[in-house]
Amino acid sequence: MDRCLEDEDIEVFNAIGSEKVRQNAHIELIASENFVSRAVMEAVGSVLTNKYAEGYPGRRYYGGCENVDVVEQLAIDRARRLFGAEHVNVQPHSGSQANFAVYASVLKPGDKILTLSLQNGGHLTHGHPKNISGMLYKAIHYDVNGETGYIDYDLMEQIAKTERPKLLTIGASAYPRAIDFELVAKIAHENGAMVFADIAHIAGLVATGLHQSPVPYCEFVTTTTHKTLRGPRGGMIMCKKEYASTIDSSLFPGTQGGPLMHVIAGKAVCFLEAQKPEFKEYQKQILKNSAALAKKMAANGYHVVSGGTDNHLMLIDLRYTHGDMTGNDAQNLLESANITANKNTVPRETRSPSKASGVRFGTPAVTTRGMGESEMLQIADLIDSVLRNANDREVMNFAKKTAEEICNRFPLPY
Ligand SMILES: *Cc1c(COP(=O)(O)O)cnc(C)c1O
Repeated sequence: MDRCLEDEDIEVFNAIGSEKVRQNAHIELIASENFVSRAVMEAVGSVLTNKYAEGYPGRRYYGGCENVDVVEQLAIDRARRLFGAEHVNVQPHSGSQANFAVYASVLKPGDKILTLSLQNGGHLTHGHPKNISGMLYKAIHYDVNGETGYIDYDLMEQIAKTERPKLLTIGASAYPRAIDFELVAKIAHENGAMVFADIAHIAGLVATGLHQSPVPYCEFVTTTTHKTLRGPRGGMIMCKKEYASTIDSSLFPGTQGGPLMHVIAGKAVCFLEAQKPEFKEYQKQILKNSAALAKKMAANGYHVVSGGTDNHLMLIDLRYTHGDMTGNDAQNLLESANITANKNTVPRETRSPSKASGVRFGTPAVTTRGMGESEMLQIADLIDSVLRNANDREVMNFAKKTAEEICNRFPLPY
């Protein structure tokens, strides 16, 4: 019981140690990842993991909840202030759980939802046939314009008019442009649909006013807390007052059991951090870095989908420059040079999702480490030299060494 991890379980201890080394030594460009503060880490690794607290603050099904009540109420109050939301539920274990609770709160099996297709930036939980959202509900899709890469709002309106969905979902995992939530809400409401905005990726930008907020316009807004928001892994739901009790009961007891109070503590700390001026500076730097990386990739001859980025991420369509190289190939090559990114489908995709023709780059994690625009230029050149010299061992070794050197200049705090 009182033995430390190293003494109790050397295998897990070593794997965690190796992961720490990996995180420190790799340039992390996965757009959905970030590094939490030591304070968040401490909260998540706290004794709160021991506590059962089914229910909500002040109305729990277990005794001994006076301290976790304080924690959850802090998280709720801070999130409400941060996003200007009428009602907040901080208990979803993940973004997917948050989304399912929203669907289950207002939809019956067979109801129609209108969402962005997964292939062009959407998320599995937006009606993919292999996800519960696609199994239970009738999902139909709007899309991005294949040529421009921008969401086709005219198409969205046209489909909303003819199909009359019950719920319109807006939000993306791989969309580099700003989203007009006000327009989407107008399209939905004029056609008898409710709107659900999923800001999992852009929550940090929304919280700091650097991206239009969907909160005033949409019935439901969900987010993850671990992407640009830089908190612990988890989800959150925001909604209008009139849906408060529906959402709360859809989450618990509808789709979850006891909340992860240690994670909710981490969320509370994250929401406090996100209210500080430094956090807004951080989000601004994410955008500057993203713009710098995209611009340099384009200058190096790469095809940046939609011609650039308005947010923390970009998509590179490799077919224009590396006809034979799949997104998967690029991901593996970059990984061997200590640059972590992921393959991604791109507009007018011609390959399967497991190969894909694009890669996605995001700047939240590298910006947390303190990297700036000059490092982005260096990283863009590094990516270029890796992708152009796949078979040259010397170039690859040099790229890996350079990546490690950049990382060493920006050590993680843990
Ligand atoms: C990441 C993401 C989610 C899901 O979050 P998980 O915590 O992985 O379940 C949902 N929606 C969008 C748009 C996302 O990008």
